[in-house]
Amino acid sequence: MEKYDIVIIGAGPGGLTAGLYAGRQGTKTLLLDKGLAGGSGLMVPSMENYPGFDLIAGMSLIAKMKKQTERNATIYEMEGVESINKTTDGLIIKTSNNKYCAKSVILATGTTHRKLGVPGEEEFKGLGVSYCATCDGLLYKDKDILMIGGGNSALQEAIFLHNVGCNVTVVHRRDEFRAEKYLQDKLDEKQIPVIWDSKVEEIKGNQMVESVVLSNTKDGSKEELKVQGIFVAIGDIPSSDLAKELGVNVNKYNQIIVDKTQRTNVDNVYAIGDVTGGVKQWVVACGEGAIAATYAYQDLEQTKNREIE
Ligand code: NAP
Repeated sequence: MEKYDIVIIGAGPGGLTAGLYAGRQGTKTLLLDKGLAGGSGLMVPSMENYPGFDLIAGMSLIAKMKKQTERNATIYEMEGVESINKTTDGLIIKTSNNKYCAKSVILATGTTHRKLGVPGEEEFKGLGVSYCATCDGLLYKDKDILMIGGGNSALQEAIFLHNVGCNVTVVHRRDEFRAEKYLQDKLDEKQIPVIWDSKVEEIKGNQMVESVVLSNTKDGSKEELKVQGIFVAIGDIPSSDLAKELGVNVNKYNQIIVDKTQRTNVDNVYAIGDVTGGVKQWVVACGEGAIAATYAYQDLEQTKNREIE
């Protein structure tokens, strides 16, 4: 079994930063990701709020971060973690194809897409229903599509879909957006239409999506719109199951509870980024990654010193 000082689960922006800091402190560090390093960050079309870059695509920034982290830590991609168990030898991490032993674990497991939970959503997933504009947007060039949601993700992705030539309309359940003003201004500037006070009741079609039934949240009236695609960006659900199985405390939203040092209630287990809730921004996840790696290192040093005494 390979032994590490620190194993980081999830190689998004936060995990990569934790790996960078942990490795540079001299600890033997491993990052594991069930997919590619960067995760959903690879799909971010462009960012204008990551310090040091006026505008950069998620994929470009992740490539830079990964290269830098790889100089200091090991990264294994396409290796999903199945369980973490605390033993007298340390934390045993079982993955899809291996087992590792770690003195400390940093959980950077992120979130998954929230679903609408309406008839037709599962049936037409990949057949007109999508949760990723950057992945699937080009397939809908010149087609009529809906973007569901009123947060930063929905508006950012609607603008991306418009830019690649889709006829996109945003549908939001209220009469004001939650998204930041700069994104609302961009939506106005591009004259992307919005259907307010409406939610999806049903997604219909034969082989592919053909229409969506909307209901008005104020008067209950219904309308059926002919569309070829529907993109859903209505928030996310924390990926905290592994943490819960390990005995880590979560709040009522299933977000991992951490203190200012990113420590959880379980010794030598830390959590960072979107899985802990808070402000879901790359720069925040990266900051938390640096904090967790620093305290994980300090905690290991203290244990070492106690053992020497
Ligand atoms: P979010 O901020 O939680 O917004 C979710 C949106 O979906 C809300 O407008 C919500 O409506 C709507 N919604 C939720 N459940 C719904 C349902 N069942 N049916 C219809 N609409 C529903 O999620 P997000 O936009 O994915 O963003 C997640 C986090 O990432 C946020 O903290 C965000 O700031 C951050 N983020 C930042 C950037 C950026 O800085 N550029 C980009 C992307 C994401 P209500 O408003 O009515 O609740």
